[in-house]
Amino acid sequence: MYKPEYLFGTDVPELGTTLNVAPGVYWLRMPLPFQLNHINLWLLEDGDGWTVVDTGIARDEVKEAWKILAATYFSRDKPLKRIIVTHYHPDHVGLAGWMCEEFGVMLSMPLTEWSFAKMFSLDTGQAKRDDFTAFYRGAGFDAAMTKEVNGRIGRYPNVVSPIPNSFVRIGEGDELSIGGRNWRVIIGTGHAPEHACLYCDEAKILISGDQILPRISPNVSVWPQEPTANPLALFLSSLDKFRNLPANTLVLPSHDWPFHGLLQRLDDLRLHHQERLEKSWQACATSATGFDVLKALFNREFDAHQLFFAIGEALAHVHHLEASGRVSRHRDRSGVDYFKQIT
Ligand SMILES: [Zn+2]
Repeated sequence: MYKPEYLFGTDVPELGTTLNVAPGVYWLRMPLPFQLNHINLWLLEDGDGWTVVDTGIARDEVKEAWKILAATYFSRDKPLKRIIVTHYHPDHVGLAGWMCEEFGVMLSMPLTEWSFAKMFSLDTGQAKRDDFTAFYRGAGFDAAMTKEVNGRIGRYPNVVSPIPNSFVRIGEGDELSIGGRNWRVIIGTGHAPEHACLYCDEAKILISGDQILPRISPNVSVWPQEPTANPLALFLSSLDKFRNLPANTLVLPSHDWPFHGLLQRLDDLRLHHQERLEKSWQACATSATGFDVLKALFNREFDAHQLFFAIGEALAHVHHLEASGRVSRHRDRSGVDYFKQIT
């Protein structure tokens, strides 16, 4: 497997400071309270001000770090002018509402991502969810596991500040002028519904968000809100959009480190999913539930948080196999889906 070439090795900016990755482009990091313990954000010089890409999760230590950064970088002569958010996940949009108020700026975001953020931020988890229960039971979870994963729903408002009621829509092919340079919006799918990446041809820089990461593969999951989805097909086809970017593109991902080697990384991600598809297919030699496929793919114990993502990933692979005519689905009387190889 190709090893990406990291611009700064494994050096990272200290909390509340930045590293200059290219003229006018600064890298900063914010902590995350998960196993994946950080997110990368980007500060772009924008003429007489600044544009920031992504915001961090809504927690006090992240706000404090923003206050330190603001004191260092933002001034009356050179204020923060715009916040761009790649997608609705809490580590990206978490502090957008707070920052828009604090600095008096607008949020720019794809329509679907803003809508999802708004929708989830209003969902306190109190609603009746028989359909979600049916989804997890259908995937082969027992009653206790179903209760655990359902218990994770409604936590979004705890980790995002209120989403702004108004926003600026960005979408596929838009050219954003930032600091006199054009940044083109490239929309990725599969990880999030309308994930914005930003590419500057003049600087040969791609802000890839979570769509392309150098070390881990982005989560691609079927969620109970859209139980018949085939997100892996969306993810793989949207990766092809990045193939015509120059081989020497510097990629700025949301996790781990800035890197060179975009085209090889695209090949690796495709290969990774091909291997996972084969493993999933083998797991369906005799009838297998989504949970059986999960066990074959991961082969380790999970806590509820990990289980929530792992079942989504397992279903993403079997749904892709089903759509390609490689497995069939049979639902038993209790509503559990069984997948079986078509040979
Ligand atoms: Zn994400």
